[in-house]
Amino acid sequence: MMREVIAEAEAALLHTYNRYQIVLERGEGVYLYDMEGKKYLDFASGIGVFALGYHYRDYDDALKAQIDKLLHTSNYYYNVPAVEAAKKIKKISGMDRVFFTNSGAEAVEGAVKTARKYAYRKDGRTDHEIIAMNHSFHGRTMGALSVTGTPKYREAFAPMIGNIRFADMNDAGSVKAQITDRTCAVILETVQGEGGIYPARREFLQELRRICDERDVLLILDEIQCGMGRTGQYFAWQGYGVKPDIMTTAKALGGGVPVGAFLMTEKVGAHSLEAGDHGTTYGGNPFAAAAVSKMIDLMEENHIVEHVRETAPYLEARLDDLVGKYDCITERRGSGLLQGLACRGPVSGIIAGAMERGLIAINAGPSVIRLIPPLVIGREHVDEMIAILEESLREYQGESHASV
Ligand SMILES: *Cc1c(COP(=O)(O)O)cnc(C)c1O
Repeated sequence: MMREVIAEAEAALLHTYNRYQIVLERGEGVYLYDMEGKKYLDFASGIGVFALGYHYRDYDDALKAQIDKLLHTSNYYYNVPAVEAAKKIKKISGMDRVFFTNSGAEAVEGAVKTARKYAYRKDGRTDHEIIAMNHSFHGRTMGALSVTGTPKYREAFAPMIGNIRFADMNDAGSVKAQITDRTCAVILETVQGEGGIYPARREFLQELRRICDERDVLLILDEIQCGMGRTGQYFAWQGYGVKPDIMTTAKALGGGVPVGAFLMTEKVGAHSLEAGDHGTTYGGNPFAAAAVSKMIDLMEENHIVEHVRETAPYLEARLDDLVGKYDCITERRGSGLLQGLACRGPVSGIIAGAMERGLIAINAGPSVIRLIPPLVIGREHVDEMIAILEESLREYQGESHASV
């Protein structure tokens, strides 16, 4: 049954992913089921999207109610859900102006355009530069790809958009070395996700803020993966004592409905994009906006951010045990419920082994196991995850010893 669907998928879909060989059919809470009824504990949450898990009743009801009213209007008119969503995201972020997009990559595109326009309005030049980080990931569209610091993602698609310079995460000196009188922005993920789960260090981010302030360079923080409560703050930067000029969000923002946003301070909003400069047919449509609005309501009502703060130390402690216990794991890195186990070799076998045993986890680069569960997990789910992961680790370690 599953095999047939997979064969049909491979005959029809463009093969841009080496997919795991399962067909997921439904979800309930923090569990997923494939079409043969096998149950999986979900520690991937659709790459950090299903923050509240699957079939959260109030969320589903809100979406159904909006479907019955109005799905789409275009941005030529106002709609109430977009206003509500914008007010709520302003409140939890402390930013001033919001532009809704359909994806993370589009949010990054918008952020880059905003920074360029801000600098253009200051000095009229058209050769501004942006500094991005090595090992960063910002999405697959040409602008977002251009600031993505992993050459293998970019190479075949050159030329990129111009004037991007790369520096090293957590090395303020390397950023300073790239700054010129044409620099208009520095962009980074507050916690690097795809690149291997590297949180920005406090001193680094604070130093970046100082450098940017000195030169009126805009600080863009990509919170697409690490935002929306994942680190125990609504947005990870809120734990650093710095505030970005522009930030991006997506993934968990709509809790499963495709939506993203870029936000900015009033200073940037008043001196950058103007009517006619940017647009989107779908962005912030009533359906997507209703999802954002309900997500934020539910996170507030159910104290999800506090729950993450309570649960994360337990997850960290259990993962730290594994680091001490298994030779193949070198380090745990992460923040809140975004954690990585760095391993000596490729982790695909460990992840596949876990999946066979009913645990869905993902990688972050070839050698990091990424744990990015729904934010509503409890300690019992952490225990269940650890038990399965250990079985897979033991098998993997046994095999690698046997092969030496
Ligand atoms: C996933 C991701 C993106 C891209 O988002 P899409 O919705 O896939 O376009 C950008 N930045 C970060 C940090 C991400 O994790």
